This record gives sequence, C-alpha cells and structure tokens, in this order.
Amino acid sequence: MRILIVEDDISLASGISRILEAEGYAVDLMKTGEHAAMAARQESFDLVILDIGLPGIDGFEVLRRLRSEGRGMPVLLLTARDGVDDRVRGLDMGADDYMAKPFAMPELAARVRALIRRGQAQSGPRIVHGPLVLDTSARRATLKGEPLELAAREWAVLEVLLARVEKIVSKEAIIQAMSNWGEELSLNAIEVYVSRLRGKLEPAGVRIRTVRGFGYMLEEFKEG
Ligand code: CA
Repeated sequence: MRILIVEDDISLASGISRILEAEGYAVDLMKTGEHAAMAARQESFDLVILDIGLPGIDGFEVLRRLRSEGRGMPVLLLTARDGVDDRVRGLDMGADDYMAKPFAMPELAARVRALIRRGQAQSGPRIVHGPLVLDTSARRATLKGEPLELAAREWAVLEVLLARVEKIVSKEAIIQAMSNWGEELSLNAIEVYVSRLRGKLEPAGVRIRTVRGFGYMLEEFKEG
C-alpha cells in the first residue's frame, strides 16, 4: 500500500509520514502541487493526502488534474479549521474525505485505513462477502481488512462456494470445479479443506453450513 502525501509544512508532513510508515504503508512526500501531479501520473498510489494551501498550484488544482486524468484513488484533503467552503468545494470536486487542521494523528490514521479499505472494495475483479474480500487477479484475500492466508485448494473451494451463496453445493460439484485445473480430489479431501476454511472464516462470522449427505452452503453474511 503506497500513499502520497502532498504538504508543504515539513514538520506536519513528516509527522504524518512517520505514523503511516509505522502502520506499514510506503509513503512518498511532495512539497508542491506540480511535483505531486507529476508523481501521480507516473506512479500508482493507493491514497493521496492532499493539503489545499500549497505553493504554486494548490490542492484543488492537483485534485482537478487527478480526476480529469481518470485517476480514482481515494483523496483525503487537509483543510484549515475554518475552511468550510474549502471542504465543500473539495468534496464536490471528488475528494473522498477531509481532515481539518489541527487534527489528531490517530484519527488521520483511522481515516486512512477506512479510505484504503473502501478503495480496495471498489477496484478490480473482487469477490466481497461481508468481511471477506477475494482479489481474484492478485490472488490475495483479506478478512476484516487483514491479509488472509489461503492454500491454493482452500482458495479454489472457497471460490466455488462464493459463486453460489445461499445455495447448496454438492461435494461432487466442488470436485468437478477443482478438476478443471487438473486436481483429482476425494470427498474426504473436500471435507478437510472446508474444515480448514471454517477455522479461518468462522471467527469473522462467515459460515459454511453442512448439508447432510449432500454438501455445503455458504450462508449469506449477516452483521453481528
Ligand atoms: Ca500548506
């Protein structure tokens, strides 16, 4: 996860950068709008933290250029405390959220996490089931926003179940789906993978029900 910070106040910028790096993000720092707009054109960022008051072109112009070039990454604006008009204008121009200065760093970090989660949920060929997200192109799974380790066969079984939420899927159908990629599996093996999946998913409320003598059903996800 890579974040671009655009802020000409060096001490604020390095404070933000420190807390985000401590959370495991890669951070790039730019002091002017021109540099920021150029960097965003050349590199790919998962989030931009954008100050409005910048030397040269301001944050609004950076935002306008990003959006007019079709860049849809989440943008978090930094505004003055009394900058209501700025916030409205920024949100109207396609910013996703704002923080009014001065702000508490833990709150900024929480907003960043939320925006990145939302950005992930919207991009790419993803399968979303409650707190579970499968990015099928990157073959990465997350549960409640945390990386979820899945063995290749667990992934395959889960994909079959996710394609038929609230529908009964026979063990034979799972075997059939997996044989498409050259795996010949026994009914017992399917039971093992389902049981491992349950161990990983049920703590987050994602349930795979056994339909006796037939197969499984991934239940519709319900909060709480
Ligand atoms: Ca500034």
